[in-house]
Amino acid sequence: MFAARLIEALGADAVKTAPEDLAVYAFDAYSQALLPSVVVLPSSTRDVAAAVKIANDCGEPIVARGAGTGLCGGAVPAKGGMVLSFARMNRILELDTRNRRARVQPGLVNLDLSRASQPSGLFYAPDPSSQKVCTIGGNCATNAGGPHCLSYGTTVNHVLGLELVDDAGEVFHTSIDDAGYDLTGALVGSEGTLAIICAADVRLMKLPEEVRVWVAAFRDVECASQTVSAIIAAGVVPTALEIMDEIIVKVVEASYQAGYPLDAGAVLLVEYAGFANDMNEYEAAIEKIASENGAISWRAARSQAERDALWAGRKGAAGATGRLAPNYYIQDVCVPRSKLPAALAAVGASARAHELTVGNVFHAGDGNLHPLLMYDKRDCKQVGAVIDAGNEILQACVDLGGTISGEHGIGYEKRDTLSLVFSTEDLAAMARVREVFDPKRVLNPEKIFPAGVSCGEVR
Ligand SMILES: Cc1cc2nc3c(=O)[nH]c(=O)nc-3n(C[C@H](O)[C@H](O)[C@H](O)COP(=O)(O)OP(=O)(O)OC[C@H]3O[C@@H](n4cnc5c(N)ncnc54)[C@H](O)[C@@H]3O)c2cc1C
Repeated sequence: MFAARLIEALGADAVKTAPEDLAVYAFDAYSQALLPSVVVLPSSTRDVAAAVKIANDCGEPIVARGAGTGLCGGAVPAKGGMVLSFARMNRILELDTRNRRARVQPGLVNLDLSRASQPSGLFYAPDPSSQKVCTIGGNCATNAGGPHCLSYGTTVNHVLGLELVDDAGEVFHTSIDDAGYDLTGALVGSEGTLAIICAADVRLMKLPEEVRVWVAAFRDVECASQTVSAIIAAGVVPTALEIMDEIIVKVVEASYQAGYPLDAGAVLLVEYAGFANDMNEYEAAIEKIASENGAISWRAARSQAERDALWAGRKGAAGATGRLAPNYYIQDVCVPRSKLPAALAAVGASARAHELTVGNVFHAGDGNLHPLLMYDKRDCKQVGAVIDAGNEILQACVDLGGTISGEHGIGYEKRDTLSLVFSTEDLAAMARVREVFDPKRVLNPEKIFPAGVSCGEVR
């Protein structure tokens, strides 16, 4: 009945019900949930609105899905229902280079926007490491960050307005160009729980005059982390400051031959973008700080090809760990930059206590750690060890004054840990917002808040 009504409204080609089709939508990059009862591939906002209305009539939950690269179970159908996949709504609707903005559909792959803007001397700044596949809709829903958010900010700083479908299937718009409540700010990062994003107006930025990338090698991650704090404390803000430890550098080099030194305990990747005239001065200042903090070696990428290779290695680091174990669990936690050495020590201690191999690759400039715990999911003992170590790391970072997610979001994975950083009153305020947008909890249920929690219950 549900599928038949969807087929009638959107056409058979847009509605998938075969078990082998449904099976792939039970997963995202973090976890697996129930099979959806149907997968819908809309081609327009009107299709989305029609599908949401039918799902409502039939009492089915609605889960929006981009590329499924989310790392907190946000796109999995925790209660079954309808998955709305935006794979066919992947176009740039308008590239307004004169005003440096673009209107895009939610299924557009992140990197495709920068590629399309480049001939006009522009780019889209938010660049999660998954940018080759993840979508702008998913990025808006998770407020994605990435290596360059140190200087450019996260997705919310680049979204100018949204076209949305609400829980009842009505279309509405938000815009930061106009007065009134900043609903754009409220909806970016809402992980599909407040409304479905059907188009986004985003800011484009002018490509910098010059970009330089340097690699500094250190004895250990502590020295590399201290260097990061010292660089920022000196008033220099590079566009990216990324650290990889020895384990990660080895698998990255084996997979990508990116050009990282293999004789170091940790490697710091530094990028500075700006005016050509300033470059030598910044290079000298950053190199001096690295050397004062124990850099063993310092190398500048000499060409675009060398810069690209270094970035390809960094952004492919998580996948490269497939050389070490069949599975990895990536924790996403944030601490004040000065607490990075203590947080890394806690990561190492937890991994050792649970006899797990851990690799660290992280957005050091933001204090955003991503320990990768290696395991084999066919071994229940290892799964248990990874869960325990992940929780210990999270608690240790909160104890250091940090927070439970730097950029991946809350989703299904961390919905019970919000209370580590928010008071009952804080959570009640958030629950009231959800109550306004989605009183029946049809949009991505069981995400961010535990199921059934309303503002009254949070209190
Ligand atoms: C190797 C790897 C590296 C990564 N690196 C980074 C990184 O550097 N920075 C970072 O922030 N993240 C990173 N991620 C996590 C992930 O790529 C981001 O969270 C990304 O924004 C998810 O986009 P997606 O299109 O895959 O969304 P999905 O995983 O499909 O969905 C994510 C969430 O958004 C919701 N959603 C999707 N589309 C819509 C829509 N149209 N309307 C409403 N809600 C919607 C979903 O319901 C879900 O809650 C990485 C992931 C991997 C696997």
